[in-house]
Amino acid sequence: MSAGWRIAVDAGRCIGSGGCVGMAPAHFRLESGAATPIAATVEPTETVIDAAESCPVEAITVRDDDGDLVAPA
Ligand code: SF4
Repeated sequence: MSAGWRIAVDAGRCIGSGGCVGMAPAHFRLESGAATPIAATVEPTETVIDAAESCPVEAITVRDDDGDLVAPA
């Protein structure tokens, strides 16, 4: 049973499109032109998968407790 997922944004890769903020405003915000996770660890939710999958530059990674990649696929 997973206790939570860890969200990371590669600020060097993020182009600041804001897509993730629009899709998951509870999980991402824009800071100095790059997205940043509001909380590094979240309850597993489809919303963060959708945001990671839709990032045009795959800057978002979602990992489970064991460090295994959940998204993007
Ligand atoms: S969707 Fe990707 S490129 Fe756009 S702001 Fe979010 S992390 Fe950055």
